[in-house]
Amino acid sequence: MPSKKSVRVGNVIIGGGNKIAVQSMLNTKTSDISASLLQIKQLEDAGCDIVRVAVPDEAAAKAIYRLKEHSRIPIVADIHFSHRLALLAADAGADKIRINPGNLAHDKVSVVANACKAKNIPIRIGVNGGSVSKEILSRFGKVTPEALVESALENIKLLNECDFDDICISLKSSSVLLTVEAYRLMSSRFDYPLHLGVTEAGTERMGIIKSAVGIGSLLLDGIGDTIRVSLTDSPVKEVYAAFDILKSIGLKKGIEIVSCPTCGRTEIDIISIANELNEKLASFEKPLKVAVMGCAVNGPGEARDADIGIAGGKNEALLFKKGEIIRKINENEIIPVLLDEIEKL
Ligand code: SF4
Repeated sequence: MPSKKSVRVGNVIIGGGNKIAVQSMLNTKTSDISASLLQIKQLEDAGCDIVRVAVPDEAAAKAIYRLKEHSRIPIVADIHFSHRLALLAADAGADKIRINPGNLAHDKVSVVANACKAKNIPIRIGVNGGSVSKEILSRFGKVTPEALVESALENIKLLNECDFDDICISLKSSSVLLTVEAYRLMSSRFDYPLHLGVTEAGTERMGIIKSAVGIGSLLLDGIGDTIRVSLTDSPVKEVYAAFDILKSIGLKKGIEIVSCPTCGRTEIDIISIANELNEKLASFEKPLKVAVMGCAVNGPGEARDADIGIAGGKNEALLFKKGEIIRKINENEIIPVLLDEIEKL
């Protein structure tokens, strides 16, 4: 079940039945203000809901003041090792603090909790395979779903002892199976909002596949409140991949492009047309189905339920709406005509 509890991260509410928030993380040096602001702007334009920044040093923590002056989306401070940096980031206006249970001493967790409580900002307990303590590992033998949940639980208890319950949880692993099982277990036992992701998922292709399978399976089970697709690539690509995962299971409205796989009947460059449309319509929010088909034999028929589409011929294409042929257009008009027609729908 989606969590009933929720946390407020700046102007975004995670959990409580709200829409699944999409997150990404800057890969600039956080203290490089102009580069970081440029990437935040790119992420905002792509539709990202929340951005996380690395806080490896004091300069990064203090940079959050400046980033907050210009960012339209909430900023999460990613903290490892140092509770002092967490306090600085909270002072600088971070909208949420992510702590890693594996590298923050137990007595320091309470210090961070008190600072966050005073400022009314939530904490994400960001468990991953590498953050499970030696004690838990020796109990479970290796990193298992139970061990990941136990690691989160240990930190939930520490925070709760400080009367702090403004918590969301992530239980990431680079293994899709382990990740999915850990989140299922967590969701069956607790009601905290869950931040979903497969960590170190890989480069674009494999990263998207692992994230789609892992995040997608959980979302289909009704588990998860916010998602981050981790790619060894640009953060903007993470956002587009996250949207595509949500769109593919009906959790986000937007353009769905159905395109044929091409075959010996294909007469026009369907691959380029489909790719170009995909790029140009990536952040388009109208819930439309656009068909890009290689030939007229099967084109309009196969995409009968599309709102609009084309079926290729030799140097030309048939334009159709809801399965009805409207007119013939030249090959080089396909993209502008489709964009124009989609705008009017
Ligand atoms: Fe081939 Fe036409 Fe089907 Fe595309 S729509 S795969 S070109 S038969």
